[in-house]
Amino acid sequence: MEEKPEKLISDEGIRVDGRRPDELRPVKMEVGVLDKSDGSAYVEFGGTKVIAAVFGPREAHPRHLALPDRAILNCRYHMTSFSVEERKPLGMTRREVELSKVIREALETVVFLEEFPRASIDVYIEVIQADGGTRTTGLTAASLALADAGIPMADLIAAVAVGKVEGQLVLDLCDVEDKYGEADMPVAIAPRFNSIVLLQLNGRLTPEEFKKGMELAQKGIAEIYRMQRETLKKKFSSARMEA
Ligand code: ADP
Repeated sequence: MEEKPEKLISDEGIRVDGRRPDELRPVKMEVGVLDKSDGSAYVEFGGTKVIAAVFGPREAHPRHLALPDRAILNCRYHMTSFSVEERKPLGMTRREVELSKVIREALETVVFLEEFPRASIDVYIEVIQADGGTRTTGLTAASLALADAGIPMADLIAAVAVGKVEGQLVLDLCDVEDKYGEADMPVAIAPRFNSIVLLQLNGRLTPEEFKKGMELAQKGIAEIYRMQRETLKKKFSSARMEA
């Protein structure tokens, strides 16, 4: 585990990786990165690197799990064993099972599941490298992969964590800030409706800090949402040119 730096915020208000409090890490996004799945995306926030792949809608298996009036959405969030320095257990840990569930519940709010009775839509999130904010990066990637698969959705989901580090509210925590900061609050929003689809808080914030943190998250999410739409536009406009 990385050691705690002497200071997480400099006297000039600069963070361990050189960012200002309201700055995102360098972000990369790409869709259609895999051939075998129906949709896929690669998303990178600084040192956090995630691939999402989507299959479906396809016949639900085992068939007795199929629902007569809508599709089931399966979601698996998994960290590869080389994604962290420590020895990560090979199977699904409790943390991964919990994150799979909260990510699925967030995605279920936007996917039009009722359009595909008896079907399943399967979402796989693989964390290739972890440096804080893997659930938010995973959700951002999963919604891009669903869009890439052409699955009808009310909106994309854009997500980022905010937190408190040495008394300062900061956007998009890296691993060291997450570990040694006072609070970590992942937020996911469907921006078109401004509806919060995931909100967790680890640590403590005052009501004022919570409000300011939400504003900071919304600012970051607006930027992430713009990048997601650009990424999809780029892919589909180049597909049109090729046709
Ligand atoms: P998130 O990745 O969504 O911020 P957590 O707050 O649980 O979720 O984890 C914060 C960070 O801690 C992760 O991004 C990762 O860098 C690190 N981490 C999580 N699980 C492990 C693990 N099993 N071994 C080492 N580091 C881990």
